[in-house]
Amino acid sequence: MKIAIIGCGAAGGTAAQFARKTARDAEIVLYDGEGYGQYSKCALPYVVRGMMEPDRIVEFSPEWFRRQRIEYREERVDAVDMEARVIEGSEESYDAIIVATGAMPASPFPAEGAYFLRTMEDAIKIREEAKKARDIIIIGAGLIGMELAESFHEMGLEVKILEYMPSILPAMVDGDIASHIRKNIDVDIETGCRVEAVEDGVVIADEEYRADMVVVATGNRPMVVKESRVMDVNMKCEAGMDGIYAAGDCTSITDFFGRKINVGLGSIAARQGRTAGINAAGGNEEMLPPVLSRTTRIFGMEIAAVGLLEREAKGSISAKYSGKDLPHYMEGKSIVVKVVADGDGKILGCQAVGSGAAAIVDRMAVAIYNEMNVREMARMENAYAPVVAPTFDALSIACGMIERKLK
Ligand SMILES: Cc1cc2nc3c(=O)[nH]c(=O)nc-3n(C[C@H](O)[C@H](O)[C@H](O)COP(=O)(O)OP(=O)(O)OC[C@H]3O[C@@H](n4cnc5c(N)ncnc54)[C@H](O)[C@@H]3O)c2cc1C
Repeated sequence: MKIAIIGCGAAGGTAAQFARKTARDAEIVLYDGEGYGQYSKCALPYVVRGMMEPDRIVEFSPEWFRRQRIEYREERVDAVDMEARVIEGSEESYDAIIVATGAMPASPFPAEGAYFLRTMEDAIKIREEAKKARDIIIIGAGLIGMELAESFHEMGLEVKILEYMPSILPAMVDGDIASHIRKNIDVDIETGCRVEAVEDGVVIADEEYRADMVVVATGNRPMVVKESRVMDVNMKCEAGMDGIYAAGDCTSITDFFGRKINVGLGSIAARQGRTAGINAAGGNEEMLPPVLSRTTRIFGMEIAAVGLLEREAKGSISAKYSGKDLPHYMEGKSIVVKVVADGDGKILGCQAVGSGAAAIVDRMAVAIYNEMNVREMARMENAYAPVVAPTFDALSIACGMIERKLK
């Protein structure tokens, strides 16, 4: 059996590993346009900051893949004949091909002279330029824009963020949670700002802004190879043609709520990679529909969310609890939890900011997947000890608040 994988990111690298685990004798060729092996793109803001050197974020090197008898080729694939399963230039045909080419940053406006962050090379270039800069403008207050803002702030640069939407982290949290986060961020943020163009360090919007450097973080466009397109895949990562699989940011998939989404999270890309790798090697694996668990830590705040935002769930009910993560007689840390449920109390989403936010959201991912109700979650025990957690934690209290609203 011969398997080709195009791209060695979270999806492609994971696919190669699981293909090898599934078929010990398969011939596996992994094409990678970059040459670092599999590295964490999510850690790039910390490379920019100098918190870690580029080598440190390489999770599986080219040599590591070769030791697993995976032929790692540092080579860009230009085109694929999907019907014949042949990669242009190699003349070899494969039993299965996994397309895992990821995405590239996209700008909705001309952005001459601006920087973008997606690859290791981008991070190294931005880091070198930022060392020479005094001030910087970041366009886009999403996850990447905010993580970069923290990095530049730590480097001592004066940071200004311009965001088109009315609140920061618009895809991650609702406006009320975003306002809470914003109060704790020590950089200049302008929301509702529509940028028209960047021209050599000058940002043209309702007024002109100038800085030594401009970084655009406004989202991604899936990468495709010739003869492929943004690939719509099912839960087996099948792309609609015999022997062709796709995984990661170059795909679209139906989420748990029945919406077609472009994949843009490493957590999902890696799970798709696992699925595609097993199936391409002859297995029969099906992934769970994504509930969209997401998290970050910026300016000292842990932020996490799962499922639908209140504004995405028509007719929903929400409740927000703000308090401490320990009993009142202990010195706890701040925690804010917002729960979103439908009119019957079925849990649809959760957003949390503060100590243990990701763990709270991970609990809610299981609740959403199992279609649990706020009544059950309000009664579900949480582990308790005064030095670790209160008897009724923030999540049970927030669910209880919705239950009372439903009565
Ligand atoms: C700065 C940053 C921070 C992020 N933080 C988070 C986070 O905290 N949590 C989270 O869940 N997600 C995060 N993400 C998103 C996450 O990194 C992506 O969802 C994930 O990397 C997607 O994996 P992928 O394998 O599809 O694509 P990629 O990781 O982009 O990998 C694709 C690979 O394919 C290669 N390639 C492309 N075309 C070809 C070709 N024609 N031939 C050969 N090789 C090719 C590329 O060079 C690349 O190495 C972050 C992304 C960035 C950029």
